[in-house]
Amino acid sequence: MSKPLSNKIALVTGASRGIGRAISLALAADGALVAVHYGKSKSGADEVVGEIKAAGGNAFAIGADLAAKGAADTLFGELDRELKARTGDTKFDILVNNAGIAPFVGIANTTEAQLDEIFAVNVKSLFLVTQKAFSRLRDGGRIISTSSAVTRVPFPDVAAYSMLKAPLDNLTKSLAVELGPRAITVNAVAPGVIETDMAEFVQSDEGKAFTLSKQALKRIGQGDDVADVVAFLAGPKSRWVTGHVIDVSGGSALTF
Ligand code: NAD
Repeated sequence: MSKPLSNKIALVTGASRGIGRAISLALAADGALVAVHYGKSKSGADEVVGEIKAAGGNAFAIGADLAAKGAADTLFGELDRELKARTGDTKFDILVNNAGIAPFVGIANTTEAQLDEIFAVNVKSLFLVTQKAFSRLRDGGRIISTSSAVTRVPFPDVAAYSMLKAPLDNLTKSLAVELGPRAITVNAVAPGVIETDMAEFVQSDEGKAFTLSKQALKRIGQGDDVADVVAFLAGPKSRWVTGHVIDVSGGSALTF
């Protein structure tokens, strides 16, 4: 039986662990060839590639530090080379902008260097990677970015991160209009607390209780809770959804 993403090629940034890993596994299970991007952890990305192959899928790893100058060029240098070797072409179908950092620091203690790094990884590189993807994405393609519920309800302990996720929601709308004539849909998912290295606080009893007190659904979110929604947005059944940020937070902070 043909899978929803058969013959599609996806790039997932920040895919060596956490939510990006879960997204890579989900897209590969749906039939896509997945470029598993990593910043520093080649071994993590290689493990994800291994898991995908063991499950009968297809993937390869590419590295680029998204905090570095010229990061988008580095990333596409790698991707172009790997895709040419496999398909003879540099075209692909699905871009998932997932990489991100969230230093756990409130407003008073946030340094200029931290602000610069959050901006570089979460905003600037996302903009430039997406811009450089235009000429490589096939018509009918997909762009999906990992936003956060903190754009709706800021979290003061990660105030700079909360502020710097918001540009992504804004850009999603401009991109949807810009790429609509090519039938490329552009959406974002906004997870709440998901159990990954980034949300380490959820490992403590206090962090878990705090998180559950904010959610309508009473368990801690996992990477595949987000990945399943990304897979829907990447697939043919989401064809009429574009320009939206879809909350994937177990109903976090719905009421006062
Ligand atoms: P994570 O820390 O486990 O993963 C982050 C990924 O980004 C890693 O693969 C990491 O290598 C990559 N990355 C970080 N800096 C990079 C750099 N300089 N260059 C290249 N890659 C870099 O966290 P996660 O929870 O899996 O986060 C994934 C995305 O989900 C992020 O955009 C994050 O903001 C978002 N998010 C997470 C949560 C949560 O509670 N975990 C909630 C809402 C949104």
